[in-house]
Amino acid sequence: MEIGFIGLGKMGFPMARRLIEAGHQLTVFDTRKEAVDRLAALGAQAASSPKDVADRCETVLASLPSLQASLEVATGTGGVIEGKRVRRFVDLSTVGSHMAARIHGLLAKQNIVQIDSPVSGGVGGAEKGTLAVMVSGPRADCELVKPALGVIGKVFFIGEKPGSAQTMKLANNFLSATAMVATSEAVVMGVKAGLDPSIMIDVINAGSGLNTASRDKFPRSVLPRTFDFGFATGLMVKDVRLALEEMKSLGLSMEVAEAVGRLWEVIIREEGAESDFTAAIKPIEKAAGVVVGGAKGGHAAK
Ligand code: NAD
Repeated sequence: MEIGFIGLGKMGFPMARRLIEAGHQLTVFDTRKEAVDRLAALGAQAASSPKDVADRCETVLASLPSLQASLEVATGTGGVIEGKRVRRFVDLSTVGSHMAARIHGLLAKQNIVQIDSPVSGGVGGAEKGTLAVMVSGPRADCELVKPALGVIGKVFFIGEKPGSAQTMKLANNFLSATAMVATSEAVVMGVKAGLDPSIMIDVINAGSGLNTASRDKFPRSVLPRTFDFGFATGLMVKDVRLALEEMKSLGLSMEVAEAVGRLWEVIIREEGAESDFTAAIKPIEKAAGVVVGGAKGGHAAK
């Protein structure tokens, strides 16, 4: 299948590479030339703008870092909306249901179908093709792109209503964000009391506290203190804020989500948007006066 792909970052690059390896013909664009060059070296055609991609392909996928980037790439000047061949725009980014519906409305005026397709499973999932791919949009178009999306993960059809896959994704990422900070608090409590954090994580993973932070993030990026899982704090906070907005717009006030949201605002303030989201434990450690993991295991901070 001829596929356009815009946004070749931590997620976009491995997804685009998998599509090439599966035999699809890719036309790619990113504002970072080096990302385009790396994919061109793997056999993709390089394009000069989102419009250029959409001039050449009926199906255009995008994996972009902000709501504004998705809006501009899809509907701005020189965007997908101006393309001659494009029939459908598949947004793999997390933008929330309101932005998805807005892009849907603008593209519909040019008879371009918008498909929400946010993904979960991280950079590792993108590399291995094991992402959870949540899809909403007209069923026929979703069926048409399903074989391509199947290359990057397991496809779940959420519904036809624009934005519904985004709501699904925000529910998922609220849980991921909660797991990260709740596990950090649990382990910091243990270390403060003199427990070994590695043993704690082993016990939690053998017990009922098991979650994605204890299973994946702590062993790989927190206990060794590499903080390199591959998802930026800025992106996690974007998703938490979007989840809170989604709840608010539904007339809901959720206690846990609000507490989790406040904590992530502290994390982004102290660690910065570019930090890896596993650095979430650092302000919690600081407040408790301990350090978790590293060469010394768990210990009191100096
Ligand atoms: P990233 O910042 O690594 O990649 C974004 C890419 O988009 C970059 O290469 C950037 O140069 C490019 N870009 C930005 N603006 C552009 C524009 N106007 N035109 C063309 N290219 C542009 O981000 P990422 O971690 O790959 O995340 C992408 C999306 O996937 C986000 O919505 C994120 O929330 C979501 N997501 C990320 C992960 C993860 O683990 N990293 C997991 C699931 C979902």
